[in-house]
Amino acid sequence: MSGPDGGARRDELAANLARVQARIAAAERAADRAPGEVSLVVVTKFFPASDVRLLAGLGVTDVGENRHQEAAAKAADCADLDLAWHFIGGLQSNKAAAVARYADVVESVDRARLVAPLARGAAEEGRRVDVLLQVSLDPPDHTGERSGATEADLGALAEAVSATESLRLRGLMAVAPLGEEPARAFERLAQIRQRFMQSFPEATTLSAGMSGDLEEAIAVGATHVRVGSAVLGSRPGVL
Ligand SMILES: *Cc1c(COP(=O)(O)O)cnc(C)c1O
Repeated sequence: MSGPDGGARRDELAANLARVQARIAAAERAADRAPGEVSLVVVTKFFPASDVRLLAGLGVTDVGENRHQEAAAKAADCADLDLAWHFIGGLQSNKAAAVARYADVVESVDRARLVAPLARGAAEEGRRVDVLLQVSLDPPDHTGERSGATEADLGALAEAVSATESLRLRGLMAVAPLGEEPARAFERLAQIRQRFMQSFPEATTLSAGMSGDLEEAIAVGATHVRVGSAVLGSRPGVL
């Protein structure tokens, strides 16, 4: 970072952003999809609000965060910018109302217990919050901790969200599990989505694909990709 306006960092972010946008455009073409059909959510977790500000200056409109305290602080810091904040992390029910006060999209709704506090937080601020249901792509024999609802749970969860005034059901979100080809996992996701949309045809959003697998996600119909390290660099202290 150099200079008060972050000139060197801005150049670095601009170059990374251009590379990611070119990858998205190429993947859209490869999948015979219309240019600009896929939206980019830049995941800014672990990076400072000054980076968010630079990204907004470079035309980024949507940012993603996965921890409540960090997200709340950055959203407050950047309140003068016209950004949509996506909450993409594991959500505790005692934090859900607070998240719904600043998040424009909550992408990680994976159990019914989250719905009432989210709806209350949004209603108390007089806002409507978009919701994606996070679906687990773990293989059926998976035994470890699961983030994401099972396909069998999605219908009831979608009904619960739809029954609120302050939440709007928009679609599904998923993360490819470790240890499996992302393309295979995303094939399952596409099938889950197709079945889900028979009951919830308005829920057209599909958030899938990250720095390492955005092409595979766009190939199966992702409407939003969530990209962190390919834009911001490796996260300090992790990975
Ligand atoms: C961190 C994170 C991302 C971005 O991951 P990168 O590999 O850095 O692009 C996307 N989605 C979720 C849910 C995340 O937690």
